[in-house]
Amino acid sequence: MALYKHGNNLTQSQDAAFDATHSPGVAAPYPGIYRCTNCGDEIAIAGGHTLPPQNHKQHDPNKGKIAWQLLVYPVQQK
Ligand SMILES: [Zn+2]
Repeated sequence: MALYKHGNNLTQSQDAAFDATHSPGVAAPYPGIYRCTNCGDEIAIAGGHTLPPQNHKQHDPNKGKIAWQLLVYPVQQK
């Protein structure tokens, strides 16, 4: 579970980008922190970089598919 201290620096979003899941080993569509839907592992990645492969951790087949889901998206100032 990701941690933070100063919640006033985070804003909750209903954007559909947070609902999409992405296969291991594909390019991350957005920069940010992603969470594995099977094991709960979390990673930070730059946009376009390759998401970790399926074997990044041991997985329980009973916990569903191995996929990455966007958890936190950094908003860059223009
Ligand atoms: Zn995992």
